[in-house]
Amino acid sequence: MTRASKLRRPLSQSRDRCLALPPQTLALWREAIKGPLSEGISRAQGHPPFSREFTAHLPGAVRTSQALNQPGRRPRQGTDSTASQRLSHSLPCATIVRVPTMETTSGPSGTIALYDLDLSSLEELLDSWDEPSYRAEQVWEWLYVHLVDAFDGMTNLPKGLRQKLARHATLDILDVVDSARTSDLRTRKDLLQLADGQTIEAVLMRYETRRTACLSTQVGCAMGCPFCATGQMGLRRDLTSGEIVGQALHFARCLQARGERLTNVVLMGMGEPLANYDNTLAAIRRLNHSAGFRLGQRHITLSTVGLVPQIHQLGTENLQITLAVSLHAATDALRDQLVPVNRRYGLDALFEACTAYAEQTGRRISFEWALIEGLNDTPEQANALADRLHSTMPGGLVHVNLIPLNPSGGYPEASATSEAIEAFSAILDRRSVPYTIRVRRGAAIQAGCGQLRQRHQSS
Ligand code: SF4
Repeated sequence: MTRASKLRRPLSQSRDRCLALPPQTLALWREAIKGPLSEGISRAQGHPPFSREFTAHLPGAVRTSQALNQPGRRPRQGTDSTASQRLSHSLPCATIVRVPTMETTSGPSGTIALYDLDLSSLEELLDSWDEPSYRAEQVWEWLYVHLVDAFDGMTNLPKGLRQKLARHATLDILDVVDSARTSDLRTRKDLLQLADGQTIEAVLMRYETRRTACLSTQVGCAMGCPFCATGQMGLRRDLTSGEIVGQALHFARCLQARGERLTNVVLMGMGEPLANYDNTLAAIRRLNHSAGFRLGQRHITLSTVGLVPQIHQLGTENLQITLAVSLHAATDALRDQLVPVNRRYGLDALFEACTAYAEQTGRRISFEWALIEGLNDTPEQANALADRLHSTMPGGLVHVNLIPLNPSGGYPEASATSEAIEAFSAILDRRSVPYTIRVRRGAAIQAGCGQLRQRHQSS
């Protein structure tokens, strides 16, 4: 058995693991939901409560609670404060869980974010409402095949179920609060508002044969790359899996209206996807689901700044997505400046993880290189890059993307000149390193990560 196959697990196991909460958390949750939820709902609204098993791993409830604790979120309603406070201490990432009561579950702030559920959670929800087993697949199709944006559009569901969904669940369709397009209309960048008022960017790029959406995974970013407008903003919060998926569906609906289909997704927008690991992986699996959106894994690219432990973990997920590593420098001294996380995970550790990922998955790794004048566009850096790649990476599993820097307001450096780009690429040619010089699409529309949000906030 190969190393890769030993590490691989069935997809279903991985999916379950994404949703699982620690045992202590489950115990606290179960204790917390005793009484008010079951008795209150069934008495007052005449339908059965959610099953305890379902509620115990309900990501929508956790997601709602996260959002509730953000500024600008819809007003909070009644909660069992003691149990929820105890529960919050057992969760990672400072998630404050609010325990559903009759009020919160029936009111606008206690609704379940449907796009945060995977198919099995949706089945459990509808089962707890005594719906027949085929209903979950019907709803799933409305969400991910027909791309409806309102429960009323789910026309093969009984009216009573549509009303119940409208009362207890939400689709949280993302609102466009600003938008910018290139003059040829091939690139469009939208600033999207989340339920708690935070905003994120997503970009749609039209190529000859592809329609590619670039999605955000966090509001802001903690990685602090100095040339990046998002890094300059700092981290506000992680996105839920539904909020990541929702960006792809937003563009898929726009394309659907033109008789087109979204063909590719790149997780290269605001945030570091691997710092929001579980939600990012859940979003990838949901977009790839064979009964839903059916986006091929090889049509999904995840970009990371180089979180080494998570790259190792990703290699064990039995996925065929493309990994893109934002490298930008081939010596630790320079990369420490351009990509601060390098001070924690230096180039030796990063390339060890990349080599393992390529071997485990058989997938080629893309190395991204934003060319900055006088810093990383030099012959020394080009040769150091070639040395690194030849000495570490398996042959044929490497590609370098050279991207002229998209200047951002808070960073004084300029993009490399065309002469420097030519000289840099000539060295890669000579050293047999495969590369592409990417056209900088959309500089005029602040297409660099975080720039539209920056512009919107300063206007
Ligand atoms: S470049 Fe990516 S990882 Fe770095 S700060 Fe910007 S969003 Fe974060």
